[in-house]
Amino acid sequence: MNRGKHLLVTGAGGFIGHHLVKRLKADGHWVRGVDMKYPEYEASPADEFEVLDLRRWDNALMATRGNIDEVFNLAADMGGIGYITAFHADIARNNILINAHMLEAARQNGLKRFLFSSSACVYAQSKQTNAEVAPLREEDSFPAEPEPGYGWEKLYAEQLCRYYQSDYGFETRIVRFHNVYGPLGTYDGGKEKAPAAICRKVALANDPGEIEVWGDGHQTRSFMYVDDCLEGLIRLMASSYRHPLNLGTDRLISINGLVDLVCGIADKRLAKNHDLSKPQGVRGRNSDNRLLRDVLEWEPSISLEKGLSLTYAWIENELARSGRLEKRKAALV
Ligand code: NAD
Repeated sequence: MNRGKHLLVTGAGGFIGHHLVKRLKADGHWVRGVDMKYPEYEASPADEFEVLDLRRWDNALMATRGNIDEVFNLAADMGGIGYITAFHADIARNNILINAHMLEAARQNGLKRFLFSSSACVYAQSKQTNAEVAPLREEDSFPAEPEPGYGWEKLYAEQLCRYYQSDYGFETRIVRFHNVYGPLGTYDGGKEKAPAAICRKVALANDPGEIEVWGDGHQTRSFMYVDDCLEGLIRLMASSYRHPLNLGTDRLISINGLVDLVCGIADKRLAKNHDLSKPQGVRGRNSDNRLLRDVLEWEPSISLEKGLSLTYAWIENELARSGRLEKRKAALV
């Protein structure tokens, strides 16, 4: 991407959005961030940061006003598997309002490009019933059978982007993230995802001791460190590719395997207490990266060991800063 563009990042108070604002500023762009909240853990370096609820049409128009060139539309009501399985109506309604309003406002205000952040949750559930799942190719989203609520909304918004492309010639880009993790992401409170939740549980556990793991732990996923995610986003926005594209790693690992990796990083010996009553999502999900490699001439390469070490160190530090590690130690005495 050329330097010195005027860029809008929605969801700039959230995990990926905040990292993206930092990267775009470092790359020399002028950036407006928009979200319902400020970033939780550090201040945003955005040139302008506006607190707006993008479910409202007037706010979507306001967010896209002025001479903005391109928008990375990352705002969404979302969370980990516990959250997205509990609130289908809220999530589907909130996100369709955000995406429909942002697309139309961006078009009316003359923006040149719109990037929509979709998800691997759009893939047909019947193709994800085995832990040893075949990596998912982009065409595996049809016939449609996505994750209830969140996945249906993402698939519908992907289609809306394609209609804007074909009917109005409006340039849209569609990325399907596979499990992004890293520092400065939610690690507590119900919206956190598996890597952050596991890092928190391991950091707070006694050694030796045990932690709770959702499901039997044999469910599998692939995980991408946030810096790889940013690189892929920027490459896709600059490309001429208009169809949905996977963005993830293709290293499949079970949740038990993820716990073992984090225990190794923390140097703790912990037993796994599997809670089978908790949601575990599809049995297996992996990204097929053939198209990604072709289109972007690149693919994510930061290892899970390195990414998790950085994430664990940050979460452990946050827990120490808020006094929660000390409370655990005191309880042991
Ligand atoms: P996040 O929850 O940290 O960030 C989303 C941000 O959107 C939040 O800060 C939230 O306040 C904001 N938001 C929600 N409703 C809003 C509204 N009505 N108006 C304005 N802002 C609103 O999530 P994230 O992990 O940074 O995800 C960013 C995008 O990537 C989302 O679209 C998400 O669906 C998608 N995605 C993420 C992952 C992942 O693994 N993190 C995987 C698949 C897709």
